[in-house]
Amino acid sequence: MDRQTEFVLRAVEERNVKFIRLWFTDVLGYLKSVAIAPAELEGALVEGIGFDGSAIEGYARIYEADMIAHPDPGTFQLLPWRTQAGTARMFCDISMPDGSPAMADPRHVLKRALKRAADMGFTFYTHPEIEFFLLRTPLQPGVEPIALDTGGYFDHNTMDEGTDFRRDAINILEQMGISVEFSHHEAAPGQHEIDLRYADALAMADNIMTFKVVLKEVAIAQGIRASFMPKPFTDHAGSGMHTHMSLFEGDQNAFYDATDELRMSKIGKHFIAGLLAHAAEITAVTNQWVNSYKRLAWGGEAPSYVCWGRNNRSALVRVPLFKPDKASSARVEYRAMDSACNPYLAYALLLNAGLDGIEKELPLPREAEDDVWSLSEREHAALGIASLPRNLEGAVELMESSELVAETLGEHVFDFFLRNKRAEFDSYRREVTPWELRTLLPKL
Ligand code: GLN
Ligand code: MG
Ligand code: MG
Ligand code: MG
Repeated sequence: MDRQTEFVLRAVEERNVKFIRLWFTDVLGYLKSVAIAPAELEGALVEGIGFDGSAIEGYARIYEADMIAHPDPGTFQLLPWRTQAGTARMFCDISMPDGSPAMADPRHVLKRALKRAADMGFTFYTHPEIEFFLLRTPLQPGVEPIALDTGGYFDHNTMDEGTDFRRDAINILEQMGISVEFSHHEAAPGQHEIDLRYADALAMADNIMTFKVVLKEVAIAQGIRASFMPKPFTDHAGSGMHTHMSLFEGDQNAFYDATDELRMSKIGKHFIAGLLAHAAEITAVTNQWVNSYKRLAWGGEAPSYVCWGRNNRSALVRVPLFKPDKASSARVEYRAMDSACNPYLAYALLLNAGLDGIEKELPLPREAEDDVWSLSEREHAALGIASLPRNLEGAVELMESSELVAETLGEHVFDFFLRNKRAEFDSYRREVTPWELRTLLPKL
C-alpha cells in the first residue's frame, strides 16, 4: 500500500467520514458519482469498483459494459458543505476488466496528451477565468431567466447578493485546496467571474469539475441558481472560460525569452501558431453546445475570428502583459472556450494543437492590431483572418476531418462525440424559435 493510500484510510478514520464519493466524468463533461462506505474503501483503493459502463453517456456498448473505477488517492478531499455526515471525494481513473484504460474516460484522454508533452520535456500549466450567471429560482422552462442582480463589470455593490455568494463559494473552494486568484462581477447582470490560481492541467481539469459542483451547491443553499450555460440572455454577453496556458521545462517557463520584444520564446510562438492552425477544428469540443455559438456570435469580448494580439480583446489568442522580469508569468490566453465544455477533452486538444505547432515549427502569423469585429469580410480575407465556426453544425463538420482531434480523442470518443453533437444540432434545427414567431409570423 503506498503512502497516499495509507493517508486516505487514516483521514477517513480520523475525520469520521461516512461516505466516500467516487467521481468521474462522462464524455460530455457531466460529473458521475458513486458513494461507498468506509468498509469498502480499502478494496476500492486496491482493486477499484465495478460499474455498468453502458449506462454512462459515451462510455460503452451494451456488450462491453463492465468497467472499473480506480480512485486516485491524491485527489482525496472532504466536501465542506456536507458537514452533518462526513463526506469526502476522490476522482477516478476508469479501466476495462483486463486492466487496460477505458478509451472513453476523458481523464485518460488528457493523460495521454500530457504524456506526449512530458516526452517532449514539458509540463502543461493552465489557469481558467470562469464566468457564470447567478439566477433567481425557479427557472421557468423555455423562458429567459431572471438575473440575480443588476451589477456590471467590476461593480462593487453592497446590496449585491452575488458578493456574499462569491465569498461563500471561494471559502469552500479554498477549503478543498483550490486556490482562487481573483473574483469580480462581470459585465452582464447577474454575471460573475472567479479565476483559479494556475495548476498542472490534470489537477486543473479536476478543479473545474469540483468548481461547478461547489458553485451549484452554494447557490442551492442560498435559494438561487448558478449556471454555466454559455449564453442565457439574448441581450447580454455570455459566459466564457478564458484559459491561460504555459509549458514549463523543469522550473523554467519555456514560453519566456527576456531578449524577445514580446518576451515570448520560439516555443511560445510556435505554440500560439499551433493553436491558431487548429482552432476551428477543435471548437466543437471547446464550445460544445448549440448555445455556445450564440456567445461567440455576440461580441462582448468573446472571439469570432482566428487571430492573436497583445492587448486585443477581440482576438482569439492573447499574449497578456506581464512584468518583464517575471518569467513565470509568460503565458498565452485562449479566449474561445466556455465553461460548459468538458475540461479534460478541451485541455487535451489545446495542448496537442500547441505541441503540433512546436513540432512543425509553425510560424507565428502577423499580430491583429485592429478590433477584428469592426473589419469587413473582405478585410479579414486580405489579412488572412479566418472565422471560427458559426454554429455547432459547422464546428462538427470541421472536427470530422481533423486528424488532430481524431488522434487526441481516440476513435471511441471521437465517434461518440460526432454522433451526439450531430443529433443535438438536428433536434435544435427542427425547432420553430421565438425569433421566427416574433419576426416572421406578423409578416408572412
Ligand atoms: N464574457 C466574455 C466572453 O464571453 C469575456 C469578458 C471578459 O472577461 N473580458 O468571453
Ligand atoms: Mg478575467
Ligand atoms: Mg471575464
Ligand atoms: Mg481573460
